[in-house]
Amino acid sequence: ELCDFGLIGLAVMGENLALNVESRGYRVAVFNRTTSKVDDLMAGRAKGKQFVGCHSLEDLVSSLKTPRQVMMMVKAGPAVDDLIETLIPLLSPGDILIDGGNTFYADTERRTKYVESKGLLYCGTGVSGGEEGALLGPSMMPGGSEAAWPHVKPIFQAIAAKVGPNDDIPCCEWVGPRGAGHYVKMVHNGIEYGDMQMICEAYFLLTEGLGLSNEELYDVFEDWYQGELNSYLIEITRDIFSVMDDDGGYLVDKIMDRAGAKGTGKWMSQLALDLGVPSTLVTEAVYARCLSAMKEARVRASKVLSGPNPKYSGDKTNFIEQIRDALYASKICSYAQGFVQMQAAAIEHDWPLNFGDCAMLWRGGCIIRAVFLDRIKEAFDADPKLENLLLAPYFQEAVERSQDGWRHVVASAAQLGIPTPAFSAALAYYDGYRRERLPANLLQAQRDYFGAHTFERLDKPGTFHAEWIQLRKKPKQ
Ligand code: NDP
Repeated sequence: ELCDFGLIGLAVMGENLALNVESRGYRVAVFNRTTSKVDDLMAGRAKGKQFVGCHSLEDLVSSLKTPRQVMMMVKAGPAVDDLIETLIPLLSPGDILIDGGNTFYADTERRTKYVESKGLLYCGTGVSGGEEGALLGPSMMPGGSEAAWPHVKPIFQAIAAKVGPNDDIPCCEWVGPRGAGHYVKMVHNGIEYGDMQMICEAYFLLTEGLGLSNEELYDVFEDWYQGELNSYLIEITRDIFSVMDDDGGYLVDKIMDRAGAKGTGKWMSQLALDLGVPSTLVTEAVYARCLSAMKEARVRASKVLSGPNPKYSGDKTNFIEQIRDALYASKICSYAQGFVQMQAAAIEHDWPLNFGDCAMLWRGGCIIRAVFLDRIKEAFDADPKLENLLLAPYFQEAVERSQDGWRHVVASAAQLGIPTPAFSAALAYYDGYRRERLPANLLQAQRDYFGAHTFERLDKPGTFHAEWIQLRKKPKQ
């Protein structure tokens, strides 16, 4: 009996995705470069299930119904190109190659065109949710050859996370052509960086500023989890404050304060710079990880450089509420920036993205899943051309309500010497975005003064240049 789906790459993600597909009633053929992993799976978790273990790509291909659906779940990069080269001669016209890895979107742009030129279809799909998501229901962001969608849709939507009042809306919808799916996945990861950084800033204010214990932190995050901040990341943060180490004491307090990164946040920042859009939250989050990684340098500097006493002297309960406000308002700015970047990328690459769908795809299964995303979907459903989330009435009012607390937190953090790069960058973005006038008039004057870069005027159209040196007030000798 032929299989419905083929999966290559049986590491954490691939193995769990394969089990997920099989659990929905499909027959799955699997292959892994190191074939002992195929045997291990067949003898272990796949035992007695609808699996065919293959020891070669030829076997895998010949085990599949046509048009074949072959998903690659391998290390992103050259491994994918190598697999494509090997698979192309084995496949038939109309077969579909799927890349579910964390691939850089430009590689998917290129590979879609290449694979299509060989008469096959290509589907670059962002998959989020880690090990558990892969097994039980990830968030999936498929893009690539439009003609592939009707074929992959039944299996993709069957395995994806489900949301909505009846748990029947799959977190998987067609994103757009070529690399659109992987771009949206990258923005998801960048937003995840921002969310995590903002939660860490709240944590630092609560511990350094207010001296809260882990028990108290647990209660604060539990309280936040019950409200508009309800999200997976707030939930796991709460839980972290309850985990003890073997020798008593809390595990979180013993973890080295040096963050790692795999690079998707950096990609988003770099692409924001290329597009000329201010995605400052993800960028600050990436830089915060860089600064944390300089542990030894920080230890040396801590012995030399001084700052104020970080203890907050005002009302504790109020300050906790204000930190919640800062977190919520900053989060809105972060998502606003992410969607603005996707809008700019959609224009640049000619992708007809549906931004309400993008929010819906992240509603379940993935790391940034949150109730909040329903509000974003509603905002884009109400106005698909919404220029900025901050302008949607719901978010405008939310920031209106939060901004006193937010400003107090950023100002207090500055006075206490507690770094809050994301909260501060978010506020600077908000205050910059809402200003009709910014000091760029002076900047243009400076550019024209030293480089004759010219300027426009508020009072008349055209391009102007001034002889600043002749016109200036002569300095005293
Ligand atoms: P890894 O990224 O660690 O990749 C390991 C898998 O890739 C193994 O099956 C390995 O085979 C295979 N592989 C590596 N190089 C080659 C090659 N040249 N030819 C053939 N196969 C190769 O596995 P993960 O499961 O962690 O991730 C898979 C993909 O999913 C990655 O792109 C990752 O970024 C992405 N992803 C991961 C998430 C996670 O939480 N881990 C979440 C979302 C996406 P072998 O056993 O022979 O070495």
